Amino acid sequence: MKKQTLILIVFAFVFTGCAKLEGPTQPAKVMDSVPPPPATPENPDSPTAPESPTPPDNDKNSGLQVCYLQTSKGQTCFEVHNRDDVNDAEPKYNYVDSFNDPSFPSGLDRWQYRSPLNLLFSSQHVSNAPLAENFLRAEVLNANDNRGHYGFFSTEALHRIQQMREHFGKPLIINSGYRSPSYNTSLPGAAKYSRHTYGDAIDFKVPGVSFQTIADKCIDLGAGYYQIYSTHIHCDWRTTPLNETIYGEDLRPSSIHKHSHGDVIHALTNELEIISSKQVQLSAKSNKAPIKLSAKNIWLEDGKGIIWFWQVSQNGKVVKTSHVSNPTFALPPGEYQVSVNIGGSLTKSITLTVR
Ligand SMILES: [Zn+2]
Repeated sequence: MKKQTLILIVFAFVFTGCAKLEGPTQPAKVMDSVPPPPATPENPDSPTAPESPTPPDNDKNSGLQVCYLQTSKGQTCFEVHNRDDVNDAEPKYNYVDSFNDPSFPSGLDRWQYRSPLNLLFSSQHVSNAPLAENFLRAEVLNANDNRGHYGFFSTEALHRIQQMREHFGKPLIINSGYRSPSYNTSLPGAAKYSRHTYGDAIDFKVPGVSFQTIADKCIDLGAGYYQIYSTHIHCDWRTTPLNETIYGEDLRPSSIHKHSHGDVIHALTNELEIISSKQVQLSAKSNKAPIKLSAKNIWLEDGKGIIWFWQVSQNGKVVKTSHVSNPTFALPPGEYQVSVNIGGSLTKSITLTVR
């Protein structure tokens, strides 16, 4: 019985989902299928666990598809499945309703945290499907009994990640992509509204490239946020419009975030929204030199590992910069503008008078 269900699902993917794929599965000869690093407290969900070969029953599908671009291999498309049905079969997808959560962090955009209506099925059978020139499905959407067999990874974010791969000319070693809400909750330090659960975040490293260089490239490629850890960097595309096949229509009156259905390239060129500075508290410890500055980010992604960028300017001219969390500056008397940037997207400034 189970076997019949399994075969039917495989056929559905082969004949409807991957119709344009050339030939059968093309294994990983040009893919970034580098073995992931072992799990550590900071890489808690390294995709090393074996995958269950048996997909859950009762997954009805809607006939809608999400397609990933592949420049030399055509498109790879997958049918979507209603999240409520999925969650009945596999209760790992209880997304918090961002519109009705009194504890939703101020300054974040509730529309960018709306719960998915649909999810993609993920199993061993499709884990080797290429989603981009250099990326296999399992690299960004790794499924198993613990994580769940459904999920989604942003087509737009993956397109940017592929561009990063081409820019550096080296494999990206990804240790975390999509996480189901229940799996995310099981990880120490993971944020309640982690972008990993929205499928536009990756934790990764690029051998021989510094994390700051990667961070700059992420921002360059439209990432809305990053965090540097000792073993990897987190980049996410939280300000990129969500895929409407998965998340439903964006009904905001503003047209800034709207994009045509399934149009990857168009969505990538939309202007980024700076997330409110309400998430950063900035303070100076004294008004006499040396000045001790501190900042607190009330919104975290995967726990510790925030990088701060400080800038002190006078009359529009930068006088000091720092990359540490709590810098001390010796400043001559005068009036200064002090600003801090966290993760490339959170900024706050204060005016400081040094006597
Ligand atoms: Zn992360």
